[in-house]
Amino acid sequence: MTIDKLIAPHGGVLVDRVLGHDAQPAALAAASRLPAVRLSSVQYSDALCIATGVFSPLTGFVSSTDYQSILDTMHLANGLVWSIPVTLAVSPQAASVIGTRSPIALEDPGGRIVATMEVTETFSYDKQREALAVYRTEESAHPGVARLYGQGEVLIAGPITLIERPPSEPFATFRRDPADTRRLFGERGWRRVVGFQTRNPVHRAHEYIQKAALEMCDGLLLNPLVGETKSDDISAATRMASYQVLIDNYYPKDRVLLSVFPAAMRYAGPREAIFHAMARKNYGCSHFIVGRDHAGVGSYYGTYDAQKIFDEFDPDELGITPLFFEHTFFCRNCGGMASTKTCPHDGSSRVTLSGTQVREMLTKGQIPPPEFTRAEVARVLIDGMRA
Ligand SMILES: [Zn+2]
Repeated sequence: MTIDKLIAPHGGVLVDRVLGHDAQPAALAAASRLPAVRLSSVQYSDALCIATGVFSPLTGFVSSTDYQSILDTMHLANGLVWSIPVTLAVSPQAASVIGTRSPIALEDPGGRIVATMEVTETFSYDKQREALAVYRTEESAHPGVARLYGQGEVLIAGPITLIERPPSEPFATFRRDPADTRRLFGERGWRRVVGFQTRNPVHRAHEYIQKAALEMCDGLLLNPLVGETKSDDISAATRMASYQVLIDNYYPKDRVLLSVFPAAMRYAGPREAIFHAMARKNYGCSHFIVGRDHAGVGSYYGTYDAQKIFDEFDPDELGITPLFFEHTFFCRNCGGMASTKTCPHDGSSRVTLSGTQVREMLTKGQIPPPEFTRAEVARVLIDGMRA
């Protein structure tokens, strides 16, 4: 085992707030007598990420002190890097039912009790201020801002304890906690591990980037986000099938691990790039790929903002090393994959398609050029769009 050679979790300790099996029945019985808050799907995924250590060092939903510090400085009050406030917003009515009572029970979106929370604080907040700080816009057309504006007016803070995991989840065999990925990396003897976040199919351009990073690292964590996304993104099931067929045919299986990232998408661009990097550090990644407009949406962020934001931090406080990539493409003159960093030829020699063009081709059942997408991947996407 080489597990101790992996990068340390963010803050030094992997958070584990999941109750053991033996303690579950008594905890559920006790929790059923507590005032309860019903979690939205995003809040539920946040709770799961907190409890399983994906969001280490967070042990619960953030306090007002941490909240203000995150908005103002992208650090927790204790000085650790943290760029996104992970909050539990409730309605004023729900807050008044809780009052000063603690602990409370947390229910999943279906109403099943899943966790308890020691309420340390209840506080109001300024949504416009959070929108500007985190999303760099107050426009409700931004999906992250719209979600913020639609949530409750009161934030409740405190550590949580997960009593029960979801009884069944999609992609169960690809769900691994940070403790699991760390164990697997250790068993495989990986030390330098590169994480790749995506919510899109992997075309040749992404494959090239991943393999370029893999040339420098021992292993690749292909870590697609399957939490809540915009409704027009390609379905998680189709994407997962497309990753599997790609790995089966074109990746060395002992050097890649496909594992889902259970967090919800926030579309916070630069700040979410930092957030994603810290989460991957917790999974055991020493390196993290940041492309153009990482976690962006529309034209809210500059092309390189999500890369530039890493310069605002000391590399030591980040720990994980970002790897910045350009868009890549097949160049007929180069005779291979390249980017504007490596190819001197003009656009006419490059095989590029816009997202809209690709979508149109796949909708019509047409397979894009092999220089753009592997045919195996295209067939999975075509089938998925027809389903
Ligand atoms: Zn070229």
